Amino acid sequence: MLAIIEEWIDATLASHAAERVSCVSLSPHFEGYFSREFLSQSYFVVTDELPKPDFPALHDLGLGGFLALDADGITYKDTYFIRPAVVDKVDLHFHELVHVAQWRHLGAPAFIERYARELLQFGYERAPLEEMAYSLQRYFCAGNGRPVDVRKFVLARC
Ligand SMILES: [Zn+2]
Repeated sequence: MLAIIEEWIDATLASHAAERVSCVSLSPHFEGYFSREFLSQSYFVVTDELPKPDFPALHDLGLGGFLALDADGITYKDTYFIRPAVVDKVDLHFHELVHVAQWRHLGAPAFIERYARELLQFGYERAPLEEMAYSLQRYFCAGNGRPVDVRKFVLARC
């Protein structure tokens, strides 16, 4: 199952390769949080339709609720997809970039396995990989603390 999902991800990323935008343009917003180098290797695609792997087997596993979730963004490997209405929301970019850092650190098979397991065990809002992204996003939005190196943070806690 993991291999099938990863194949679907690779095909999805390949089919949107021409539309993806480098995150390096966001670097002035994220000084101290994400390096220029990290951002230059991360991408986003603006699209009305967030691609999701809608396989029957995933519904059978109990992931139908997540697949139906009306999210503003979703991350696969080094690329996240966001809706046009939220493209100017810096904090949403921040949130998805935390997921890029998680994908990069864990590697695709481990990220997929862990994310799915956490969804089933805790639900979306309490899934630890999501909680990490939301708590860092809140910290970033509050804007009154010292910047946190997100890659190091992920490395220490994933
Ligand atoms: Zn998230």
